[in-house]
Amino acid sequence: MPWWRHFDLSWFVPSESFKLVTFLGIRPDIIRTHKLVRLLDRGQSDNGYRHFYVHSGQHFDDELDGVFHRELGVRPPDLNLAIGRILRRRGKAGHVEQSALLFTNTAKMLEKLRPDAVLYLGDTNTVLSSMIVAKYGIPVLHIEGGGRSFDWRMPEEKNRVVIDHLSDVIYCYLGRYKEILLSEGIPDYRIVVVGNIIVDALNSFLPEADRNTVLERLGVKKRDYILCTLHREENIEDSTGFIAKIRGLQELSHSMPVVFPMMPRVQAKAKSFGLEKLFRNSRIVRTKPLGFLEFLKLEKYARLIVSDSGTVQEEALLLGIPCLVVRRSTERPETIAAGATVLAENDLCRTALRILEKHADWDRGVLNPLGGSPSERIYNDLIVRINSGFFAKSRQFEMLKSNAFVREAYGFVNGNLDNRSCCK
Ligand code: UDP
Repeated sequence: MPWWRHFDLSWFVPSESFKLVTFLGIRPDIIRTHKLVRLLDRGQSDNGYRHFYVHSGQHFDDELDGVFHRELGVRPPDLNLAIGRILRRRGKAGHVEQSALLFTNTAKMLEKLRPDAVLYLGDTNTVLSSMIVAKYGIPVLHIEGGGRSFDWRMPEEKNRVVIDHLSDVIYCYLGRYKEILLSEGIPDYRIVVVGNIIVDALNSFLPEADRNTVLERLGVKKRDYILCTLHREENIEDSTGFIAKIRGLQELSHSMPVVFPMMPRVQAKAKSFGLEKLFRNSRIVRTKPLGFLEFLKLEKYARLIVSDSGTVQEEALLLGIPCLVVRRSTERPETIAAGATVLAENDLCRTALRILEKHADWDRGVLNPLGGSPSERIYNDLIVRINSGFFAKSRQFEMLKSNAFVREAYGFVNGNLDNRSCCK
């Protein structure tokens, strides 16, 4: 049966108005775009465009997807490409199979919806489908552009570079990210600094999160536990490395309990590496992945957060909780510069104890120095670009000429093409 038979496409009516697709794929995407998706839905009639929300289905378990839509009031997607479910049914995993299916189903989605632009967030494999979007000649927009760890060993670093260089508009969080993009030859008119959109998620949900009883449910007390998440390939795929990390957590749990919400993939790895005994001889409180409201409360009242998640790293900074980032590099060095984050690949216990001795006090405004709402800034910029026909023009040579590299390549100097020009 063709994949789109699973979905209700009765709403699909070809129209003349601009069609924008927001294309998301994993848990933190839903959290971070909750406000923007709402703004884009609401603005349609006033601004004469149509907005579709498409989900790649990279995350699909209810605890990694459904719960976030329900809890955060994010509407269900118009279309779900069901990548994860299809691969699980086929018994396939891994980047190659995932990317191949993503490319095929993205192409089908484009043929069905015929969007005028596709908006992405972040550096997951879902953003790799921007390659297909760009090949169809459809403008790509990217939120979280310009993030670089400069660590080419990270799979996500390749995704970041690819999507930024395919994008017609890049929304980056900080001026520093813009500098990186400019240094890579991306023209200024494609880049907008908006602040980090995680700020909107915390502003929207922190008051409500405070009301749940997750601490009582898990038997921990405010400021007397450590919160941990680990899910990156580099930490869980190799048995020696993963076991060393769990041993570190076990040691750490002698000083205070460690709450550890584990993704299904991480639970499966722990089981296959035979870590049950290690967990039993510890004060590690294991749970399933939690909804955002419970997790946010746990973050807010932790003494320390230990995580390999980029988003958790940002949330910790905003909440004033020190964070040990279990990675060898980060694309968010501003959190280290602020004094909120310490990187450590090994020796978790000793590093954590050292952090606990330090006074946690830093500027919590560093992720959003412009203040206000980053989602609103993105929305307002998008509306101006849609109404001014930016996307139709953005690949024209006249606009490209504003890029110093293009001017140099074609011999276009001081507003004129000189005699050496190859395109005269
Ligand atoms: N999160 C959650 N429940 C959990 C663990 C994390 O709601 O059990 C939230 C967390 O607050 C953050 C996001 O999920 O907003 C981070 O997701 P993840 O670590 O999967 O993504 P990454 O940031 O590494 O891309």
